[in-house]
Amino acid sequence: MADWTLKGAQLRGKVRRFIQASVVRENTDELLAVRKGECNRCGACCKILFRCPFLAEDAEGQFRCRIYAYRFSQCRLFPLHAEDLGELAGQCSYTFDGKAAPTDADAPAPVPAD
Ligand code: SF4
Repeated sequence: MADWTLKGAQLRGKVRRFIQASVVRENTDELLAVRKGECNRCGACCKILFRCPFLAEDAEGQFRCRIYAYRFSQCRLFPLHAEDLGELAGQCSYTFDGKAAPTDADAPAPVPAD
């Protein structure tokens, strides 16, 4: 995926998740019911577009949230849709209906410039 295409998807995803979690307060039970797996603490979702200032890394390279108990709604619910995984280049360990996150290898080939 071209870098600007990815950045655009990440920006749309951030805005959508904020609206879903904090404005609309959508009922997420059905969405979360099809999400499988556990967080591997890779920290990738905390670095979408920018690195969250509350993200901390320990000596073993594991990430943790400095405000975990008080984290924002959109952070609690990530990932909420299968398309959220596409913003992370295959790093997230969650799946939706058995489908893992797409990787860079799944991205369409770039269109050559004229
Ligand atoms: S990207 Fe997925 S696995 Fe990695 S920290 Fe975020 S929720 Fe956890």
